[in-house]
Parts: sequence; C-alpha cells; structure tokens
Amino acid sequence: MEGLAIIDASTRVLCLIGKPVRHSLSPVMHNAAIRALNLNFVYVAFEVEPQDLGKAVEGIRSLGIGGANVTMPHKIEVVKYLDEVSEDARKIGAVNTIVNEGGTLKGYNTDGVGALKSLEMFTDVDGKKVVLLGAGGAARAIAYTLSGRVSELAILNRTEEKAVNLARNLANNGSTVRGMRLSVRNLENELRDADILINATSVGMESNESLVPEHLLRPGLVVFDIVYRPLHTKLLRDAMKAGCTTIDGLWMLVLQGAESFKLWTGHYPDIRIMRNAALKALGVEENEGEG
Ligand code: NAP
Repeated sequence: MEGLAIIDASTRVLCLIGKPVRHSLSPVMHNAAIRALNLNFVYVAFEVEPQDLGKAVEGIRSLGIGGANVTMPHKIEVVKYLDEVSEDARKIGAVNTIVNEGGTLKGYNTDGVGALKSLEMFTDVDGKKVVLLGAGGAARAIAYTLSGRVSELAILNRTEEKAVNLARNLANNGSTVRGMRLSVRNLENELRDADILINATSVGMESNESLVPEHLLRPGLVVFDIVYRPLHTKLLRDAMKAGCTTIDGLWMLVLQGAESFKLWTGHYPDIRIMRNAALKALGVEENEGEG
C-alpha cells in the first residue's frame, strides 16, 4: 500500500468498533494523518456485534490497543464497560472515543466539538440563533456543545418528546433552548430569524430527500448538513442554489476525528490531509469538495 509506514513490534494500534464499519472513512483518514506525522501507529476497523461489545472493550485493554473510535450502534452501550467517562460524554450520554491510559479506559465524545469547529471555520456562533433538526445521538452532542454559546437554539424533531426532553436538559446553560415537533409550520417560524440551520437527522443520507422546503432557504443563512454520504445532500444543493453559506458533513467527520487523534497521540493532525484522504475514498474531486 502506497506510503504505508513500517509496522514493527512497537507499532501502536488504534481502531474503530462498530457495525457496519466496512464503508467507514475513518481508517483512510487517520492513516493519512499518521503517515504525514511519521508516527508509529496504525488504525484498523473491527466489526463488532452488539452481544460482543463487552469482550471487544476487554480486548482493547488486554491487547494494549492505544485507543478507539466507537460508532453505531455502540456509542451509548459502551459507557458501561469503561473505567472513566469525561463530563461532556456523560452529559451527552454517548462515547465516540476511547483512550487507553495504561489499562485504564477513558471515554470521550468529540462529535460536539467537531461540529462546533466545522461551524467556526465558516461563521461565528456566539450570540447566534441556531435551528437544529434532530434529537438523536449526534444532535444531542451538538446541542450540548452549542448551548451556552448561541443566543437561541430551536430543536425540531420528528418525535417531539425527544426534542422537548433534550431542550429541558439544556435549560440553565445560558442559551434560550426550545424543543418542538418538526413540521413545516415550525420550520417556517423558526427559520425566519435564524442565522444557522443544522441537519443532524439521517434524512438525506444515501437518498435525495430534504426536510427543509426550498423556499425557506435564503442568502445570509448558514446551512450545515452533518450527513456526508452524499457529500452534497439535497439540503446542501438547495441551500447553494438559494445563496446560503454551506458546510458539508465531512468537515465534522474530519474535525471530530482530529480531536480523537490528538487524545490518542498528543499531536493535532493536518486536517487538510485527512479531508483529502476522505474525499478520495468518497470518489469526490478535491475542488468539488470545497465549501
Ligand atoms: P440517531 O441517533 O439514530 O438519530 C437519528 C435522528 O434522525 C433522529 O432525530 C430521528 O428522529 C431523525 N430521523 C430519522 N429518520 C427521519 C425521518 N424520516 N424524518 C425526520 N427525522 C428523521 O443517529 P445519529 O447518530 O444522531 O446520526 C444522525 C446522522 O448524522 C446519520 O446520518 C449519521 O451518519 C450522521 N453523523 C455524522 C457525523 C459526522 O461526523 N459528520 C457524526 C455523527 C453522525 P426520531 O427521533 O423521530 O427518530
């Protein structure tokens, strides 16, 4: 394989555990960053069945695997097998990163900070009004990270109760947070004076669907879709046509990955190298991936 560092008896292993993992972009992204820094690490993907999760985590400990990413469907369940969990991950209720510190397994969640840094590459978030679609795992991480920074956060979800509960849990964080049902009428009302729209649902993933009617998109609105397959979802294409600033989900994937990489290796990786490796694996030309 092109440019692969020599694997020897000192090579430290990093891994992804999830199911499915075969289409994951994390191995190419992290191995590109490892090569660029000339570190003696390698990143591999393990497909782990839910009933084997406890044994897989014990394997990380007993084999001295340096760290791991955790993806669907294990992000919540994995918490009970860890020795320590960061305050962010505890509040979010999910772990996407494990660090093995001499046999002590610590859980972190880098999804929220990855999303925040993606937004900050394109816009200021402080004092802004954000409309967040979704109340699942990724939306929870984003809502937790943004609350306290933005002035107003409106959470719209298909299952209203989940949006209302999430908003309730974030009360007293310094922002006005409201949860409500995802409907065209609520979207219309909330988007009228919004600065940023984030899609944190799975709608648009490998489909040509969008939850947001085109006429609600306008110049001045920043539209961030965390879905990255396809890179330019229907929501992002509609937003580009309407003159919005757009941010694709690959930024979040790269920036949450970069935070995990720093936790494992102590080095902050080159995010351009990670993004280009992921774009190549997605089959997207670099200039198509801009913006
Ligand atoms: P999840 O916990 O399963 O949550 C899914 C969310 O999507 C829920 O809010 C769900 O609403 C909503 N939803 C699903 N189908 C819908 C529909 N037909 N209409 C309206 N809402 C619908 O999943 P997740 O982990 O949060 O992931 C969500 C998406 O983000 C996935 O596509 C994932 O690949 C992507 N993601 C990207 C990154 C990144 O780094 N870019 C990181 C994490 C996740 P209900 O509550 O009503 O079911």
